[in-house]
Amino acid sequence: MTEQLHPTFQSQFDTVVERNPGEREFHQAVHEMMLSLTPIAGEREDYERWSILQRMCEPERQIIFRVPWVTDDGEVRINRGFRVEFNSALGPYKGGLRFHPSVNLSIIKFLGFEQVYKNALTGMPIGGGKGGSDFDPKGRSDTEIMRFCQSFMTELHRHIGEYTDVPAGDIGVGAREVGYLFGQYKRITNRYESGVLTGKGLAWGGSQVRTEATGYGLVYFAQEMLGTKGESLEGKRVVVSGSGNVAIYAAEKVEELGGTVVAVSDSGGYVVDESGIDVGLLKEVKEVRRERLTDYAEAKGESARHVSDGTIWDVPCDVALPCATQNELDEGHAETLVQGGVSLVAEGANMPCTAEAVSVLREGGALYAPGKASNAGGVATSALEMQQNATRSSWSFEETEDKLRQIMVDIHTQCLETAEEHGDPGNYVMGANLAGYTKVADAMVALGVV
Ligand code: GLU
Repeated sequence: MTEQLHPTFQSQFDTVVERNPGEREFHQAVHEMMLSLTPIAGEREDYERWSILQRMCEPERQIIFRVPWVTDDGEVRINRGFRVEFNSALGPYKGGLRFHPSVNLSIIKFLGFEQVYKNALTGMPIGGGKGGSDFDPKGRSDTEIMRFCQSFMTELHRHIGEYTDVPAGDIGVGAREVGYLFGQYKRITNRYESGVLTGKGLAWGGSQVRTEATGYGLVYFAQEMLGTKGESLEGKRVVVSGSGNVAIYAAEKVEELGGTVVAVSDSGGYVVDESGIDVGLLKEVKEVRRERLTDYAEAKGESARHVSDGTIWDVPCDVALPCATQNELDEGHAETLVQGGVSLVAEGANMPCTAEAVSVLREGGALYAPGKASNAGGVATSALEMQQNATRSSWSFEETEDKLRQIMVDIHTQCLETAEEHGDPGNYVMGANLAGYTKVADAMVALGVV
């Protein structure tokens, strides 16, 4: 948070910090947004009169609850559950659930805040929210995961609904967890309300391409960015951090478009494979066997090297796609990437680059896209899933993928045009923030003080 806010926003930011002490990630997300609002400071009398920014920084509703569950050994464990319903000006609250030990109110609030503007950028009728738990799924059996999900939903069910709040997955929550959550919702409510959750399995209300959507969408977005320089992914060396759902499908699409993914990572280190990561094997190890990258390296053999010290950002590349977690790429990493000749960084995770890292990357001449634009393909496809649920229809893979691609192209155009309009061409952060903010703000003005 090095850059200075416009005085109009500085006092509002100070109030946010004061009202939400210690919520570092939330402050970071709000600061980034306020910085991008500089060009409209004093320009929108209606926004000021209606206190739009102050209202946007205060979630409409925050729910914190106890999640008791029983281990396979019969021990009772207690976790904390969250659902922050941030903004419903454009539609029902929409956003994922994250199960990870690092989860706390600040993390859920920053994710919920970002989600509001990301969802607005998709052009779909969805508001923003986020939830999750500090539950650690690592090493837990299938039956433990199921009991945890059932307990979580036993409280959550009263707060959600297809017209109210529609959760989905995020870190630690995939098709298996969404299945257990949906099963429990259906049992408690006695309603087959498909549109209450997205990321469902294909046989029970899910959408084609939802699994691939965040990763594929990210790569379409990166391809559009490169297109502005007359370039493409063909022949590019790409580093993708993470090895979860976003990273796997980003890697798959990069390879389909002629790039080479030379490294992926997990919490135990990273794998470098100059011959290109074998995405089929990566899926087998991570999605089917639920194993580690050390197992991938062992199975892949000679060309793959597992590294457990340093960071994946030490691997020189043309394109970097951070797809692991927030603040994983700091100033020092950004300097290494710039020295290594990186030309594009697009975020697959939410806020993986620190504010300082973003400055270094942009000053170093790299194209940079914030997650709320470049990773919006996941939630956009969730909205397509809601659309299919509402009309009791299901579209083919090709039809759904075409829609996703078009949405990503549109988001890219919005970012560029908005940045250009406000005198900072090529600034995707400003473009994304101002375009998203304006849509939500205009709706809030229209709906009155509620
Ligand atoms: N967790 C994803 C995100 O950060 C997807 C949310 C959704 O599909 O609702 O955007």
